[in-house]
Amino acid sequence: MNWQFPNWRNLSWLLPGSIASLIFLLILKLGILNPLERLAYISLFQLRGEIPWSQQVVVIGIDDASIQQLGRFPWPRQQYTTLLQQLSTAKPNLVVFDMVFSETTGADPQLAQAMQQHGLVVIAQAWDYQGKPWLPTTKLQAAAIDTGHISKSQDADGITRQISPQIQGIPALGLITGQIYSSTWEHVHIPNLNEPLWLNYPGKIRHASVYSFADVVQGKIPAQTFKDKIVLVGVTAIGIDSVNSTPFERDSRFSGVYLHAVFINNLLQQNFLRRFQPESLIILLVLINISWSLVITRWHLHWQLLGWLGGCLGYLVVGVFALKLGYWLLPVASAMIFLSLTTVVVIINQQFQQAIAIQYLKRQINIDGLTQIANRRCFNEYFHQEWRRAAREQTLLSLIICDVDFFKKYNDSYGHQAGDICLQQVAQALQQSIKRPADLVARYGGEEFVVILPNTNAQGAIHIAEIMRTNVKALEIPHIASEVSEYVSLSIGIATTIPDHQDSEKTLIETADQGLYTAKQKGRDQIVFQEWRSP
Ligand code: GH3
Ligand code: MG
Ligand code: MG
Repeated sequence: MNWQFPNWRNLSWLLPGSIASLIFLLILKLGILNPLERLAYISLFQLRGEIPWSQQVVVIGIDDASIQQLGRFPWPRQQYTTLLQQLSTAKPNLVVFDMVFSETTGADPQLAQAMQQHGLVVIAQAWDYQGKPWLPTTKLQAAAIDTGHISKSQDADGITRQISPQIQGIPALGLITGQIYSSTWEHVHIPNLNEPLWLNYPGKIRHASVYSFADVVQGKIPAQTFKDKIVLVGVTAIGIDSVNSTPFERDSRFSGVYLHAVFINNLLQQNFLRRFQPESLIILLVLINISWSLVITRWHLHWQLLGWLGGCLGYLVVGVFALKLGYWLLPVASAMIFLSLTTVVVIINQQFQQAIAIQYLKRQINIDGLTQIANRRCFNEYFHQEWRRAAREQTLLSLIICDVDFFKKYNDSYGHQAGDICLQQVAQALQQSIKRPADLVARYGGEEFVVILPNTNAQGAIHIAEIMRTNVKALEIPHIASEVSEYVSLSIGIATTIPDHQDSEKTLIETADQGLYTAKQKGRDQIVFQEWRSP
């Protein structure tokens, strides 16, 4: 029953938050924040700190020392056969080669045999630059238990943040390793394969278990080291595949084999980063920021700035703690930028509203509420200013005072409200009678109006006064109680002078008022120019 239209004007509170949201979405769309977001990713990992690498994963690196001792890379198959033979005593769970054995060589049968003997060897496959499959030789592929892809999508800062669990049906090297490990040794939960898996870098690469290929084949590493482990074999020598960076060692580059190590780590420890859907995140951020804009709108500037700082810090703390729990909660840099944007838009809007309010008030104190023309206060100020200017420059200053005839009777006949409307109409007619920007019409009080005409001689002032009288008459506002006219009419007094510094401003007003008095005396509805007499 009591339903009312919502107050649409109140919705203007939503404006700053909405504007900030639109700007933010645009920035997001343009990808301007990506470099910042990458930096935030690194910072968050560094703030979280390192977590232990899985003891289950061991890397055998073809490092610079190995190449020095065993010859230039690529190596003949013989080296890998030797490695597998060496490892056969250690009995690792799985041996995973981050290598595509694509060329057929004479030593393939021995390697194939060694692979079959071990039974659980995984090898890599990839795609070349044209997207054509780059596969191991059929013999080796057959000897391996399976193959996995080693494709990655590296970001501009060298960090691979996500890995596609499968491409064209081919599982990632780490994934197939996990699947085989799970079915052969120990159950491992395999995550949803339809979405990219977000790597959770445990820590510095040098904290992973890494052994030199040469040391292993030369029997320098105890066999026990590899027992029941997942052994990853790949090139770690500088300059061959070292293009990957990690959040913990930004200035160093590492081999891709470590990416697979991180992947298998995450798989075994069940700690791939859990993330929100980007769409729901954006909606969440927009909601947070619109609420934020509503909350801080009434705050003082220093609280707004403090709140903004606190908010940014809050995002960082939440981001770090979430990461500790394995969640990638928010794109922290974007969230901070969004918050900053919203705060700035709210502050600008507030300053703008204040400026408008001040302007309104300034106008208001100079405007007469009823007639909406200049008020007495404004007249006094302007008259004082123009008086001094005219005295300084020795120029003419004219003043007109108008008074509505028999206005008391008008009120008595038509009511006070009609009287008000009449005054409004008269004020408008007077206002429209002046043309120069320097001229000012003001309500002097009651039904009296004054007009300041700088740089205007008697003739000019009389001319304007006549126009005013005619214009008001032309309104044809009926006035039955008037003794001089059937319509509302004016009596007008005029005075002109070149002010002297000794003269008082009041004298000009009194002179014009004298003119008005004479006009009333002489029968109203007329103008009288009052000669100036120096006091
Ligand atoms: P005269 O021709 O001699 O000027 O007679 P008058 O009745 O106009 O002059 P008087 O000064 O006796 O009366 C002025 C009247 O103007 C009195 C007052 O009720 C009326 N008045 C003053 N201010 C307002 C106003 O804001 N609204 C209305 N409706 N009447 C006003
Ligand atoms: Mg009067
Ligand atoms: Mg009057």
